[in-house]
Amino acid sequence: MAKPDRTCAQCGEAVVGRADKRFCSSQCRAMASNQRRSDDAGEQRMREINARLRHNRQVLQRASPEGKTTLKRQVLELAGFDFGHFTHLYRTQKGNTYYFCYDFGYLLLEDEKVLIVNWQPYMEK
Ligand SMILES: [Zn+2]
Repeated sequence: MAKPDRTCAQCGEAVVGRADKRFCSSQCRAMASNQRRSDDAGEQRMREINARLRHNRQVLQRASPEGKTTLKRQVLELAGFDFGHFTHLYRTQKGNTYYFCYDFGYLLLEDEKVLIVNWQPYMEK
């Protein structure tokens, strides 16, 4: 006899059949498996982005362990710095925008230069 207290892990409908059956239908089983695949893909993308951000932070830290250093943008690029990834922005009252990778940030200057800074408590909103 089928136990009436089992429900489909996907839709919640009653499941009839073998004791190890988790889904009411093959559609529900397929939907659950697609869901899991897309969750895995999302996790993988986040890991890749996190790795880029951590690398960016490391490049900034090595280039400017104390913060406040001006150097050529190319120096960062040669170290594999990715200008497309950052964690947050800080906009000064003068209208300058600092791009941060965690606690290290930079400001793009004229002549292909960048100013590297450390995050400061007053930058908290
Ligand atoms: Zn179902």
